[in-house]
Amino acid sequence: MKGKVWLVGAGPGDPTLLTVKALYCIRQAEVIVYDRLVSDEILQEAPSHCKMVNVGKLPNYHPIPQDDINDCLIQLALQGHNVVRLKGGDPYVFGRGGEEAEALAAFDIEFEVIPGISSAIGGLACAGIPVTHRDCASSFHVVTGHLKQGKDPLDWSQFSRLGGTLVILMGMSQIKHICQQLMDGGKPVSTPAAVVRYASRDNQQVVTGTVANIAQRAEEAQIKSPALIVIGGVAAKHTTLSFQATCRHISELAEFVA
Ligand code: SAH
Repeated sequence: MKGKVWLVGAGPGDPTLLTVKALYCIRQAEVIVYDRLVSDEILQEAPSHCKMVNVGKLPNYHPIPQDDINDCLIQLALQGHNVVRLKGGDPYVFGRGGEEAEALAAFDIEFEVIPGISSAIGGLACAGIPVTHRDCASSFHVVTGHLKQGKDPLDWSQFSRLGGTLVILMGMSQIKHICQQLMDGGKPVSTPAAVVRYASRDNQQVVTGTVANIAQRAEEAQIKSPALIVIGGVAAKHTTLSFQATCRHISELAEFVA
């Protein structure tokens, strides 16, 4: 009999932001296929007999091709294993979860999606940045800075004309270019901007500025991937809306989740 695959969102990093269903799935797992962005503390919730398969970037920084990841899930399920496919944030937000679900569907393999808190919304909230605010953003646009090879480059000028918050994922290597294109497209140079690395984790870093200087400030603070770039008035709210999380470790909630 074929196994089933659960496409599970692990949230932005803080393990206490897992959903109840995600934690349940991880604790019952027989095989977990996980990405680089999933925290060790979350992986430690798996039972000791669980087979752990890392499909994140290899030590030589080469990503495993998506087709190989799809094949891995398909083979495990065809062998009868129940598989937890654990991804950072939400599995359908730039996580290639849609591609994996399609590959499973093509083999008639049962799957279920367990949504997670996306870094693009919840991660920003943890950094004191509300993705919308009636004073300055009545829409938000989540964009990838890194397109599939062979795709036409993004027309950043069209995003300059949008009034809402721009949240850019996987954009750090292009931050200078992105900000320049936005300004060339008419985004006012004084538009607030921020970068957030390791949102929601103990080592979260936030740098603020404007679309004109955020690339340089991020470079000075040595902010690298994984980080979010936020352009829009909400970025300036960080100063007043930052907070200390009650807890960031499952062990601190032991009585509730035992
Ligand atoms: N599915 C994920 C996004 C995967 S794409 C989600 O919903 O959050 C990977 C990119 O997400 C990273 O390059 C980075 O831009 C962003 N990202 C994910 N987790 C993050 C975190 N904790 N802090 C900052 N950026 C994060």
